[in-house]
Amino acid sequence: MSGFFHEGDLVGVVTTQPLDRMLDYKAPEGGCHLGAFVEVPLGPRKVLGVVWGAGKGDYDRSKIRSVIRVLDVPPMRAEMKDFLTRAGAYTLTPLSLMVRLATRSPGLGDPPAMRKIFRMGTGQVDRMTPAREKVLAVLEEFGGLSFTLKELAEQAGVGPSVVKGLAAQGAVREEDSPRDLPFTPLDPSRPGKQLTEDQAAAVAALDRDGYSTTLLKGVTGSGKTEVYLEAVAACLRRGRQALVLLPEIALTSEFLTRVEQRFGARPAEWHSGVTMTERRRVWRMVADGGAELVVGARSALFLPYRDLGLIVVDEEHDSSYKQEEGVLYNARDMTVLRASLCGAQVVLASATPSLETWANAEAGKYSRVELTSRFGEAVLPEMRAIDMRNEELPGSRWVSPSLQKEIAKRIELGEQSLVFLNRRGYAPMTLCRACGHQIVCEHCDARMVEHRFLKRLMCHQCGETKPMPTACPSCEAEDRLAPIGPGVERMGEELAELFPDARVVVLSSDLYGTSRELKAHIEAIAEGGADIIIGTQLVAKGHNFPHLTLVGVIDADLGLQGSDLRAAEKTFQLMRQVAGRAGRAEKRGAALLQTFQPEHPVITSILNGDEEAFWRAEAAEREQAGMPPYGRMAGVILSGPEVGPVFDLGNALARNDAALKRVGAQVYGPAPAPVARIRGRHRVRLLVKAPKGAALQAAIAEWIRPVRLKGDLRLQIDIDPQSF
Ligand code: ADP
Ligand code: ZN
Repeated sequence: MSGFFHEGDLVGVVTTQPLDRMLDYKAPEGGCHLGAFVEVPLGPRKVLGVVWGAGKGDYDRSKIRSVIRVLDVPPMRAEMKDFLTRAGAYTLTPLSLMVRLATRSPGLGDPPAMRKIFRMGTGQVDRMTPAREKVLAVLEEFGGLSFTLKELAEQAGVGPSVVKGLAAQGAVREEDSPRDLPFTPLDPSRPGKQLTEDQAAAVAALDRDGYSTTLLKGVTGSGKTEVYLEAVAACLRRGRQALVLLPEIALTSEFLTRVEQRFGARPAEWHSGVTMTERRRVWRMVADGGAELVVGARSALFLPYRDLGLIVVDEEHDSSYKQEEGVLYNARDMTVLRASLCGAQVVLASATPSLETWANAEAGKYSRVELTSRFGEAVLPEMRAIDMRNEELPGSRWVSPSLQKEIAKRIELGEQSLVFLNRRGYAPMTLCRACGHQIVCEHCDARMVEHRFLKRLMCHQCGETKPMPTACPSCEAEDRLAPIGPGVERMGEELAELFPDARVVVLSSDLYGTSRELKAHIEAIAEGGADIIIGTQLVAKGHNFPHLTLVGVIDADLGLQGSDLRAAEKTFQLMRQVAGRAGRAEKRGAALLQTFQPEHPVITSILNGDEEAFWRAEAAEREQAGMPPYGRMAGVILSGPEVGPVFDLGNALARNDAALKRVGAQVYGPAPAPVARIRGRHRVRLLVKAPKGAALQAAIAEWIRPVRLKGDLRLQIDIDPQSF
C-alpha cells in the first residue's frame, strides 16, 4: 500500500469516538499521508482521527465526506499503529479508545503562534510578598521550563498581575517565543560515576541493542539508578531515544537533578503535573526526535517516539503501573510489547520484583542482572520482629515499649526514626458508642475515615468529604462518636505525647495542598527537619532520608488480612521497601516490625531476608492454584445504579459460558467486586481462570458478544487483574 493518498482518494479513519469500525472519508485538498492526524466530520461534529489505511468503499460514494484538515504534526508511525492494535487486542479495548490514549494530548494542536512566555530571570525583587514567592518557587522547581502567563499564574495560584510585576523587575523574564523551544541536548559522553565491580558488570550485561528484557534487581541503594543511567547513555550514543518510567510518586525533582548531573541537561518530563504548554512541546519534540530522553509516568508509553531504543521501568512491581480506570492496562506489560515491536531494550528495575517478572526471569524469558550489595558503606538494616503478644500497651495505644526505647535512643543520637503505618487519616473507623452505628460513605461500600487536621470525614474510595458530625447520624446521641483504630494522624498524637521534646511530623499526601508543597516538605524533613517521621506508603518510595536509621512498622500484619491472593507478595514488597529507607548513608539502620504473628511465613521471610525462598514458596502456591503467572485470569466488571440488574446480567453471563469452556476456562461469580460500590454504582465481578496457553481474549470476546447493555449498565474487561 502506498503511503500517500491524493485528493479525493478514499481513506479509512479511526476516530477517537467509541465506534467499532473505521469510517471512510475522501482525502482533502493536497492529499494526506498514511497515519496522518486529521479532523473529520462526524454527524454535526468535528472529531479527531488517524488515517489508518485505504477506505473500504463499501458505501455510497456520493455520501462520503471529506477530511476537514490534516494537523501539522508528523503522521503516526506504522509501529505505533501496530502497538495500539495489539495492545487493544490484548486488553480487549476498541481501537478507537487506544487511539484516544495516543492522541489525548495538546501536542496535536497547531504549532503555537508567536506568544509571550515567562521563565526565570536574574533581576532583584524590590519587595518580596508571599504571592511573589510562590511564582519564583514554581519557576525554581521547574528549572528550565517556560510558561505562558496564564499557566504560570495558575500553577502558582496567584493573579497574572503578580507575574507581570516580577517581569517588570526582571526577576521573571518575558520573551517572545515563536515556536516550541528545543530541548538542550543531553551529553551521553560525559563521564559518569566510578562504578563498583558489581555495577560495571551489570552495565556490561545491559550493553545491547535491539529487543530484550532484563530484570535489574538490587536492594535499595545498590546503584540500580546509576546502572540504568549508563544504559540510557549507551542508547543515546546510538542515536536512539530513551524512556524512563517511574511511579508518579517517585517523579521528584531529586531524580531530574540526578539526570541533569549525569547528562548536563534536563530530560523531557511527562506526568500529570506538567503544564499544557510543556506537554505540547514534549509531544512534538518526542515525535521529531528532539527530546532524546523522556522521564515520565505510565502514559509516557503512548508518546510518538521517532526511534525508541530503551525503556526503563523503575520500581517495576509498583501497583500504580496498572491503570484502573478507562482502558485497563499494565504499563509494565505494555512496555514489553511496545519494545518488542520497535526493537528496544527493556530494563525492569526493582528491589522486590513482581512475581510475574521473577517467574519470567526464572523461566529464562527475561535475563537477570543483580546488584548484591549496597553502594559504599551502607549495609542493609537489621530486621527484627516485635512480638506484640508480649508487649504491655494500654488501649488505643500502638507504639510498643520496645519500639519506644529504640526511638528514644535515636533521638539521643540526633538520628531520625520513621514510624510507618499504611493508613491515612486519624482513625479507619468512626463508631457511635451509644448505638454501634458505623459511619459509611453514602455512595460507596467503604467507611468514612476521620481526618482530624481537616476536621472532616473522607471516603478513600470516591474522595467525598463531609464535616465531622458531633451527633450520631443514626441515633442522634451527642458526643458519642469515637475513633476506632489507628491512622497516621493519630500516631502523630501518640508520639508527640510520648516524646514531647521531639519534632514529630506526619507525612501523608492529603495533608499538603499541592504535590509541590508535599515535595518541599519531604525535602526539608530529609535534611533533618524532624526527629520522628510518621508516614504512609508515600515515604516507602523513592525518597532518600540520609539521617534515618530506624524504621518502626506499626502493623506488619495489616496487608496479610483479607482474601487477596497477592497480599503476601504486596506485604513482602512493601515491608522490604520501607525497611530499605533505614541506613542509606554510613549508619547501619534497624527495621522493627510490630506483629502478632511473628511465625507467619511472610513475616519470617521478610525478617531473615531469604527472598528466593519467599518467591519459591509463593510461586509454588500460585502454580498449585493455577493462578498467574502460571495460569491466566481476567475480570469482567459489571456496574450500574441498581444492584438487581447488575447481578442478573452477571448470572446470565455465568450460565452462558460455552465459549469459555471451549478453551478450558472456568468462570467464577458473579460476586461483589473488591470495591462493591463506587460513586453510587454497584459493581459485580466475574473472574475467568484459564490454562496458561488458552486463547483467553478470543474466548472472552465471544462470550460477551451477545451482551446488550441496557440503560445505565456498563461492562469493563480487566485482563490480568491486580487482585483475585
Ligand atoms: P538504587 O537505585 O538501587 O536505590 P542508587 O543508584 O540511587 O541506588 O544509588 C544509591 C546512592 O549511592 C546514590 O546516592 C548514588 O548516587 C550512590 N552511588 C551508587 N553507586 C555509586 C558509585 N559507583 N559511585 C558513587 N556513588 C554511587
Ligand atoms: Zn465514597
